[in-house]
Amino acid sequence: MNILVINCGSSSLKYQLIDMNGEDVLAKGLVERIGIEGSVIKHDTAGKDRVVIKEPMKDHKRALELVLEAIVDEEHGAIKSMDEIGAVGHRVVHGGEEFADSVIIDEAVMEAIDRCIELAPLHNPPNIMGIEACRELMPETPMVAVFDTAFHQSIPAENYIYPLPYEFYEKYKVRRYGFHGTSHKYVSLRAAEILGKDIKDLNIVTCHLGNGSSITAVQGGESIDTSMGFTPLEGLAMGTRSGDIDPAIIPFIMNKEDMNFDDVNELLNKKSGVLGISGVSSDFRDLEVAAEEGNERAKLALDVFCNRVTKYIAAYSAQMCSVDAVVFTAGIGENSASIRERVCDGLECLNIIIDKELNNVRGKEAIVSKALGAVKILVIPTNEELMIARDTLNLVNNR
Ligand code: AMP
Repeated sequence: MNILVINCGSSSLKYQLIDMNGEDVLAKGLVERIGIEGSVIKHDTAGKDRVVIKEPMKDHKRALELVLEAIVDEEHGAIKSMDEIGAVGHRVVHGGEEFADSVIIDEAVMEAIDRCIELAPLHNPPNIMGIEACRELMPETPMVAVFDTAFHQSIPAENYIYPLPYEFYEKYKVRRYGFHGTSHKYVSLRAAEILGKDIKDLNIVTCHLGNGSSITAVQGGESIDTSMGFTPLEGLAMGTRSGDIDPAIIPFIMNKEDMNFDDVNELLNKKSGVLGISGVSSDFRDLEVAAEEGNERAKLALDVFCNRVTKYIAAYSAQMCSVDAVVFTAGIGENSASIRERVCDGLECLNIIIDKELNNVRGKEAIVSKALGAVKILVIPTNEELMIARDTLNLVNNR
């Protein structure tokens, strides 16, 4: 069966068409500037040249119409007709407490995703637009929603309840949800496969280090704790997000700088993290270059980032009593040997010992730990689209 995977942002749409027989990507692409002047689709079909489609796209429905046309195009398409798309898997950011797993989309599911909008006001609305556009254009094709938060619904209450008045949880559902769940799930399953072990017997710390970063403790295949919280702002220092800070800093700075809530939201989400510390960039490639050239604040930003990753790995190892594997994934985790090395530098005491030569890899699966270290350290490129497609196939096949 061919599965179309859709990931909608407010003005963008990423897609992949995957043939699940061999899990081969038949076509993939990115639509940018939906609803804005200069809308464009960059479409790649396996074995063919890239096609760039520039045409006005007033909304997600128009964008999707053009994507579907590109997929079935006689010349640069991947399949002959839309009937060859067996199901569509949609990435949905927030499933709140309503969804602990992926689900076939029906009216009740749409209403539940709608109820979660207040938890993810920037992300769920475009996800909903994508689903609605697909349902209009392909009314007979089954659709599945795969939630970023679902994998973390196994986290026990002692790890998801904040030390705030309990009524805020009861009234407003203020609690830890966690994000990047599809990625943490994919790399933990893949780690078990690579190690030739049953995931039920493994304690794994998964480090998704990219523009947004989060770390998860995966015990026996279930998330038991994760660093992102009520929103994706908690936890590690990120490209532009602060991660954990003393909450009292917020009213202090608001007072000193005469800021309102929007200003402080922008400050913590867009102007903090390694960008805020370094004043150089949110991109780790720029930071590494600047640090090598002697920029002290770029060095400091990298130190703060790495120290926090180290602390979370240590904390989650302790929480699970022992750890069998540490996995690095996403843009930084997959590509930066030096960040992996620095993160593991303080972890020898936990038998997490990196092999500098083996660690010299980029963007491909590898075991990079020293044989004498009991804990395996793995680099695993994440593949959220494939995870979404697998969930979609499973649900559609078992209807
Ligand atoms: P992601 O959000 O997973 O797409 O990750 C994007 C981030 O990965 C970028 O902002 C970079 O900071 C980082 N990145 C990508 N390639 C490298 C690299 N070769 N070295 C260091 N960081 C990288």
